[in-house]
Amino acid sequence: MAELLVPQSTTGQQPRSSSSTLIPVTVAAGDGIGPEITAQVLRILEAAGAPVQPEFIEVGEQVYRAGHTAGIAPEAWDSLHRTRVLLKGPITTPQGGGYKSLNVTLRKTLGLYANVRPCRSLHPAVATLHPKLDVVIIRENEEDLYAGIEHQHTPDVVQCLKLITRTGCERIVRYAFEYARRHGRRKVTCMTKDNIMKLTDGLFHRVFDEIGREYPDMEQEHQIIDIGTARLATQPARYDVVVTLNLYGDIISDVVAELTGSVGLAGSANIGRESAMFEAIHGSAPDIAGQGVANPSGMLQAAVLMLQHLGQHAVAANIQNAWLHTLEDGLHPADIFRPGHSRERVSTAAFADAIIARLGLEPGELAAAQVPAAPTDAPAPHPTPRPQARQELVGIDVFLRWDAGMPDELGAKLEALAAAQGALQLKLITNRGVKVYPQGQPETYCTDHWRCRFVATGELPTIGAGYHPVFFADALQLQLQLTAAGLHIVKTENLYLFDGQRGFSLGQGE
Ligand code: NAD
Repeated sequence: MAELLVPQSTTGQQPRSSSSTLIPVTVAAGDGIGPEITAQVLRILEAAGAPVQPEFIEVGEQVYRAGHTAGIAPEAWDSLHRTRVLLKGPITTPQGGGYKSLNVTLRKTLGLYANVRPCRSLHPAVATLHPKLDVVIIRENEEDLYAGIEHQHTPDVVQCLKLITRTGCERIVRYAFEYARRHGRRKVTCMTKDNIMKLTDGLFHRVFDEIGREYPDMEQEHQIIDIGTARLATQPARYDVVVTLNLYGDIISDVVAELTGSVGLAGSANIGRESAMFEAIHGSAPDIAGQGVANPSGMLQAAVLMLQHLGQHAVAANIQNAWLHTLEDGLHPADIFRPGHSRERVSTAAFADAIIARLGLEPGELAAAQVPAAPTDAPAPHPTPRPQARQELVGIDVFLRWDAGMPDELGAKLEALAAAQGALQLKLITNRGVKVYPQGQPETYCTDHWRCRFVATGELPTIGAGYHPVFFADALQLQLQLTAAGLHIVKTENLYLFDGQRGFSLGQGE
């Protein structure tokens, strides 16, 4: 292996120097296969003389069951605040409402904005259809649909809020370019779905283009996530570093890891300004838990990334080389065992034994792991200073629950109510985003959730893009009138112009 793909330490987070003193790290074994793979990884670290002192905390299923809905007990935060480094096994998030994902909580609470997932084929040691695959997925880690803000609006309709910030986009995009530059990579590909989500994914894409101009040495491209995923799965060798939003990154990193041979092979680093968390990319694999057959490689790769983050490059390389040597010797856990290709199917513990027995040896055909340069400070992930935008209210979207009839009936009713109020007029009604009034199409299926867009009436001064100013009090007054008329408002959204630019999407067919 030509390089280990370490995340850079970020500003404010000094790499720790190698020393004879033990470095405290917080360790959480997790659920399912977590305890099995964590125990073996800790054995390997100890045998390799990794100068770390684990502080164990409990997270996950047991903690959820003890009544902590976030999956972590309050006292566990003390260790995390002290060590600022967490090596974490996979967690089972209980199904159903009332429980929040601990992974998301940790990433957001600790400000771990970058999720770095290096995936590399280990051909010919590990069977793969794509021997040349060597891709780093850099996934935004705090925003997007993972904000976990969901609501039920009507009996038929639920909603999940997709929140994207310019600050978050700038931070992750800059991190990706810096990562690529510092690791001698040549290309950064941005993947979004901005042909559909023009404001949210559009912002991510725009920021990628803006920040990309500061990295003229780097080849850069943007792809729509659907074709991007398809090409990652069929031509992974054409990719190098991929930066994308949270949900897409979650999905494509599993795809790419599986292409290398197994989702059980890849580790990840969650990097923030103050703290870092290292974990396998896979989950708790309840289907094989307790059988002693899980592949501990993903967790071991997470530990190697952690050692590099701590400045322990020599011991990281030693472990990496022993791991590669073991794979080359054909000793393979069940997920990567292929008859005729592998020599022996080994248990989790036997695999760890084999790695320990090969500490100090270098792999053959897989190039020896190089110890990367010590992580240096990346440029501060600060937001680009921007002048305050002028924000003007030009309308309101009122979302109604309405089960009573056809769009034209609702349209006529709303037009009459708005006319009585005077300041606002009905512009359109959409149902699931499609315009149904005025002049909707009879084929459009309508549910009980109606978005009714009101804008200013009358001869008002135009303030931008053909819109007129609206007084907030008028918007409130209109809502009171709708309520008094027996209509059921489930939510409203203000329509703003920012420096004269529309800050809301048009209805489909508008
Ligand atoms: P999973 O990754 O746990 O398992 C998917 C498949 O891959 C299973 O067949 C499993 O046996 C196999 N697999 C995964 N890791 C393996 C390994 N190390 N060795 C051999 N085989 C391995 O995904 P899932 O089944 O969708 O999720 C199970 C649970 O894990 C869910 O509760 C989910 O929420 C959770 N999860 C946690 C994390 C995390 O803690 N970071 C990530 C993903 C999923």
